[in-house]
Amino acid sequence: MKAIAVAGGKGGTGKTFVAVNLARLLSSRDKTLLVDADVENPSTLFALPAEVKEVKQVESFKPLIDEAKCSKCGLCVKNCPEHALVMLVDKRILYFEDLCSGCEVCKLVCPSSAVNRGLRVEGLFKYGSYGESLDVVVGELKPGIRRSGFMITRLIEEHRGLFEKYSYVVVDSPPGSGVGLLSVVKEADVVVAVSEPTPLGLNDLKKFLTLLERVEKRLKVILVVNKHGLPGGLERDLEEEASKRGLPVIAIPYSELVVKSYVERRPIVDLHPESQVSKGLVEVAKLVSS
Ligand code: SF4
Ligand code: SF4
Repeated sequence: MKAIAVAGGKGGTGKTFVAVNLARLLSSRDKTLLVDADVENPSTLFALPAEVKEVKQVESFKPLIDEAKCSKCGLCVKNCPEHALVMLVDKRILYFEDLCSGCEVCKLVCPSSAVNRGLRVEGLFKYGSYGESLDVVVGELKPGIRRSGFMITRLIEEHRGLFEKYSYVVVDSPPGSGVGLLSVVKEADVVVAVSEPTPLGLNDLKKFLTLLERVEKRLKVILVVNKHGLPGGLERDLEEEASKRGLPVIAIPYSELVVKSYVERRPIVDLHPESQVSKGLVEVAKLVSS
């Protein structure tokens, strides 16, 4: 199994577009799984008409304190690693759901068995497929929940066994340069960094390449310059950043066909296989699988 993380710094660089088309191309060679780990804003299913076959609710632990059993010893408060429990002067215990990681330490340390198991819904996992050899798993955080790190970790941990059944696992990574992205990149063999020739794209690429230095294992990194050829674009600056680190660069030209493929909800490599955009994507697939 080869794991490929497609990452793109800020949103809107074309990360999902590259991930979907790359997965489609790799699936023509061998069994491929596309994982949408952009849990706050998953959009692979808008770019690929995959048939969703199963939806599973993702739940986590939340403490429910039984006041009748609670001796007010404060051990749960003292041991909570996230400071999600606070004891007031009148000994009432307050619970801050946004801080809670669901670790269950409070339940384990309670000497009075006063902490019961409550459940909270974090989001959904959706399972689908497109054609014979491309399957899709989407992690979708419930709106208003600020726990994308939890969902991404759960998405990876719960599907590790599934990943092993595929020759290629393409992960549409979360945007930004935070912990969620780091946990995806740590699992990867190849990283496809998608950037665009704008000042923001250049700034995000620099941040992302700095983040990669924190990953201890050796990674194959490929820079994809999307929307190449924009008037006044900073292609040369992006290429300089890549050459400083010896990274291969592949250009995907700016094209209205990309917008059309989104409107038609079909991979451009299927719709317009002879386009320059598709040819660039084929180059990415070749480099990834070599
Ligand atoms: S589950 Fe963990 S984080 Fe949540 S309140 Fe209990 S000890 Fe704290
Ligand atoms: S550890 Fe148990 S008994 Fe002690 S304060 Fe917490 S809930 Fe109450």
